[in-house]
Amino acid sequence: MRVRILGCSGNLVGKYRTTSFLLDDSFLVDAGTVTEAMGRRDLRKIRHILISHTHMDHLKGLFPLVDELVMMGDYSVELVSVAPVLDIITNNLLNNLIWPDFTVIPSVSKAVIRLKEIPLERPTVLDRISVTPVLMTHTVYTVGFVIRQDDGQGFMFTADTGPTKRFWEVAEGERDIRFIIADVSFPNRLADLAILSGHMTPSMLMESIDAHELGDRLFYVSHMKPVFAREIIAEFERSGRKNIRFLRQSEILTV
Ligand SMILES: [Zn+2]
Ligand SMILES: [Zn+2]
Repeated sequence: MRVRILGCSGNLVGKYRTTSFLLDDSFLVDAGTVTEAMGRRDLRKIRHILISHTHMDHLKGLFPLVDELVMMGDYSVELVSVAPVLDIITNNLLNNLIWPDFTVIPSVSKAVIRLKEIPLERPTVLDRISVTPVLMTHTVYTVGFVIRQDDGQGFMFTADTGPTKRFWEVAEGERDIRFIIADVSFPNRLADLAILSGHMTPSMLMESIDAHELGDRLFYVSHMKPVFAREIIAEFERSGRKNIRFLRQSEILTV
């Protein structure tokens, strides 16, 4: 499986784009960046969009994508998440006020957006990719994921989270995980703000790694606020840890 990083920053500013990963050709994980990073021909191949939570930096790529698909005619995408996340989207986005209800446009049977509910902590297979949502600790209902291809190899993604327990417990038990993409948005001096906004600092991630004996796993730091990126990287580098890398926009990871 190829994991193409369309965006991985904690804000949209300058060249930095927000969270979205393309798995192979047809599977998006979060939709913070879509049309800015993909050509028209590739947009047509997207079939599933897995959503971790409803903050705009993970959703806003849906607007231009769906608009483009409507213009192409006869295309549809499946919006995939747990019920609480889909409910927020239905009630607050697809409400004909902020955005049209694309689950009935152009008709119910040919709708551009189909909603697909998946259960918490159980694997669901979509296009040979298995996804297992795990509840995180953020300011709104948020799930991270265990994502595997059909040979069992996979990776994990915290989505947005502050210090949390369940995800790391699940990680301890998961084998054949090539890497874990983890949210570190703020430097250590802004620990209070990190907790308040449901994100982590370098110290918080390293404490979680140590508390759960995950020191032998490979981590990619994601969702850094661009203004703090240098400071965050310096803090990790001072720790001397060899298993922590920094996710880069446009790079392609292989699982
Ligand atoms: Zn968020
Ligand atoms: Zn975010």
